[in-house]
Amino acid sequence: MGGVETAEARTCASDVAECLVCGARESRPLHGKTDGLWVCRCGLVFVHPLPTAAEISAREDDAFHGGLIDETAEMFTAYYRNYPEDPVVQGFRATVQRLHQLVGGGTLVDVGIGTGLLLHLAEKAGFRAIGCEIAADAAARAHEEFGVEVRVGDFLEERFDEPVDAITMADVVEHTRNPRRFLEQAASVLRPGGALFVAVPNHRSTLYWAADVLARLPGLKGQAQRLYVPNHYWYFTPKTLARLVAECGFEVREVRRESPYLGRYAFSLPVKLGLATLITLGRWAGLEARVEVYAVRR
Ligand SMILES: [Zn+2]
Repeated sequence: MGGVETAEARTCASDVAECLVCGARESRPLHGKTDGLWVCRCGLVFVHPLPTAAEISAREDDAFHGGLIDETAEMFTAYYRNYPEDPVVQGFRATVQRLHQLVGGGTLVDVGIGTGLLLHLAEKAGFRAIGCEIAADAAARAHEEFGVEVRVGDFLEERFDEPVDAITMADVVEHTRNPRRFLEQAASVLRPGGALFVAVPNHRSTLYWAADVLARLPGLKGQAQRLYVPNHYWYFTPKTLARLVAECGFEVREVRRESPYLGRYAFSLPVKLGLATLITLGRWAGLEARVEVYAVRR
């Protein structure tokens, strides 16, 4: 660029953010208006501009204490030491087992620990499990409930004495300012052949299709925010997530689509019935609302 760049050109360049996955600067407003959500031609949906690191951290703290969204306020409390044998727990067990099959045990690091239940199940499956958690209160509670080891801090700053055998990031990267850096950090701490599990909401799903319809209808925009929640900044599809994981030094072994378990959410009955219908349609059409990637470090 020469020194004659106009103010208008600068505005255009900074307004259209570079896509985290494909690098294009061709995103358009997702709902045809400026609600801060953009969609790239590769399928990635993202928030732009991003909140600051301090704002993100405050929102996560709020979410842990149940202040962010009413429907999820009680979500965590079911999964402490008296956890039920529900589909969420069965999903965690299956994940831990798949990772054990891939790497044969060793050290597993869970980034963003939730209640610490996944760490607990990983220990029971024979891993040495270490949690990495930004929220000090969540880390303390998990240790108290399950006796698990949790380090408090930013995973990007974390150092491990020995290469790690497996890393889990369930519902984590969509909460960060830069999922690419999180996946690169995972690749740098894993041993070659080490396994990665990443799970996020699937934007290519019946639930988000419905949210996108609602977002365009006057008066119903608020309903769409049940899915476009304030602390998610990236909305992946199976394709965009697998591409990003592969670009960060991994060989993708499996991409799975899963349906969310509604029992976790305190929605009203009409909303719950609507969501249950969409979830059933999603299962039928291959448009489930969660996507999981299992990958191995090259
Ligand atoms: Zn893109």
